[in-house]
Amino acid sequence: MTERIYYTEPSCRSFEATVTRVDERDGRSVVTLDRTAFYPTSGGQPFDTGRLGAANVIETIDEESEVIHVVSGVLSAGDRVRGEIDWARRFDHMQQHTGQHVLSAAFDRLFDNRTTSFHMGADVSTIDLAREAAAAEIDRAVDEANLVVWEDREVSVRFVTADEAARLPLRKDPVREGTLRLVEIRDFDLSACGGTHVSRTGAIGMIAVSNAERFRGGSRITFVCGGRASRTFRTYRDAVSGAVRVLSVLPHELPGAIERAQLESKDLRRTVSRMQAQLAGHEAARLLEGAQVAAGRRVVVQSLEGWDAAGIKAIAGALSAESGVVAVLVSLGSPVAAVVARSQDVALDSSKALRILLDRFGGRGGGRPELAQGAGLVGKIDDILAAAREYVRSVHL
Ligand SMILES: [Zn+2]
Repeated sequence: MTERIYYTEPSCRSFEATVTRVDERDGRSVVTLDRTAFYPTSGGQPFDTGRLGAANVIETIDEESEVIHVVSGVLSAGDRVRGEIDWARRFDHMQQHTGQHVLSAAFDRLFDNRTTSFHMGADVSTIDLAREAAAAEIDRAVDEANLVVWEDREVSVRFVTADEAARLPLRKDPVREGTLRLVEIRDFDLSACGGTHVSRTGAIGMIAVSNAERFRGGSRITFVCGGRASRTFRTYRDAVSGAVRVLSVLPHELPGAIERAQLESKDLRRTVSRMQAQLAGHEAARLLEGAQVAAGRRVVVQSLEGWDAAGIKAIAGALSAESGVVAVLVSLGSPVAAVVARSQDVALDSSKALRILLDRFGGRGGGRPELAQGAGLVGKIDDILAAAREYVRSVHL
């Protein structure tokens, strides 16, 4: 059984211990000690890392009565070692975890809205509330929680029996039996918890909610505390000041400005595609005038300048709307886009014709017998057009 130093001394950063066992598990070296200050993943709080003698502790696991340290480095049973916790990581976890107690208690006290689960991630943490919380309720709970932070209330730990706990006003029914560890925030919150917490609420710094969404009939609240709140503010500041500069508006005007820009660009896209369709009709008529006539069919095999893939497709569509037309159009530029199309009354298989061009000049594409489209062809335009003409000539139209 490992003595867990963090239960009674959560601010302990380094300690002396004796290695009781060294094993190998899934190719990893795992070590148990007679006592440890390394916190193993549990109750929503992630594990500690750090040093154990000359070895690195890369993960800490809770296993019934023992704490397992996954290490890189060589240790032997009986070794006397010094453990050093990565304090920046642990202190961050303590800020988030204590902040969670305060925030959950605020929702509980103000709105009788219970926290059903807690998860601490690498960047943000979440609590799930039993009932859906309105935006104004969330703001009020955060304000209340920050008052408790700034009042710098004492956070204390004590151990009680299950019977004693049953008589206490715990925020949440304890899930464990036997001796319970209670964490109390003076005159604000009392709950059973095995995690590590700061010793006064002032060390949380501040609590900020960054997102809220509906979740399983309640709300999932995403929040950051202390150092994470400051880093999140910095990220938001950079994003907002960048957007404000580009759009020349004040921060609170951003949503409206972005919406207007999106509507404008949607309008423009619609106008462009309408004009492109009209222009495609004119271009198709011009191409038909110069079409080669073979066996009663009008054949248009052409490269077109100033048209993109969508443009040549629109022209090919306009051409094939006429009767007795075969069209192979390629855009100028590198790589080349190509469209093959034919009228309803022509026997050519457009996708087969395109496949022959793609096999020879590369690129990707496909389509139907009436119209096929490809892109990424590499080669001289004249060679591509010559190959297309040769194929069309070889087919009985
Ligand atoms: Zn806790």
